[in-house]
Amino acid sequence: MRIMVLGAGSIVPTASRFSSGFYVEAGERRMLVDCGPGVLEKMRRLAISPFKIDTLLLTHFHIDHVSDLFPLLKMRAFTPEGLPSRAPERLRILGSQGLKRFLATLIDNNEFFSYVKTLMRYETYCSVEEVEPWRVYDLGGARLVSAPVAHDGGVAYRLDYEGVSIAFSGDTAFSENIIRLAEGVDLLVHECSFPSERLVGKHVSEVELAKIVSLVRPKIVLVSHLYPVWEPEEFRIVEAIEKSHQCRVIVARDCLELTV
Ligand SMILES: [Zn+2]
Ligand SMILES: [Zn+2]
Repeated sequence: MRIMVLGAGSIVPTASRFSSGFYVEAGERRMLVDCGPGVLEKMRRLAISPFKIDTLLLTHFHIDHVSDLFPLLKMRAFTPEGLPSRAPERLRILGSQGLKRFLATLIDNNEFFSYVKTLMRYETYCSVEEVEPWRVYDLGGARLVSAPVAHDGGVAYRLDYEGVSIAFSGDTAFSENIIRLAEGVDLLVHECSFPSERLVGKHVSEVELAKIVSLVRPKIVLVSHLYPVWEPEEFRIVEAIEKSHQCRVIVARDCLELTV
């Protein structure tokens, strides 16, 4: 699988990081995991066509993970040349419980955005599914499983394709479910929002992350969702993890590419 980081940071942009998003290629599948502000612009920069994405996985509904969903939905009613499309490519959207209410509230029943339903008729080219925890979904060759995490109704995802596995934590505090879901994966993409002395909210610091990594035992850790406060001392994340488990540790930046 090929993965490209479209957003390794938080809601506060820096020179190297902005809000969450990952592009994943698995065989013919072209997937996004989260779609925060700036994700579409990163795709343009990396020559990833937003018209070719067939699957979108949303971990939860905080603004830094979803706001580029709206332009994506509208855009898909057009051709890449910007003309109305007679046959928009289909987009399968999967998300945690609440996804249908989220779209109903912000598009269908929102007087300012409802034209994406009434004019673009997004439902004719998008399918919308709320994932059931631990249920196995077939994404056309790739296997998807989700698990609830400790963050406002959020879920983590695990993708398996041809013997290779990637887990995405989404946002979360320390969660036993991540350990069960991700055990032994090739690549663990995990958040590490703040340094331990400044940890706030339902997130983890390098201390919890080092413990999680020692229990998951992945081959590679891609550390993501870093707030700007981390930038002068990212090395502390690598040091903390390397003390607890021998593996490759990469602190993500936007536009980083990795093949597993
Ligand atoms: Zn969040
Ligand atoms: Zn977030």
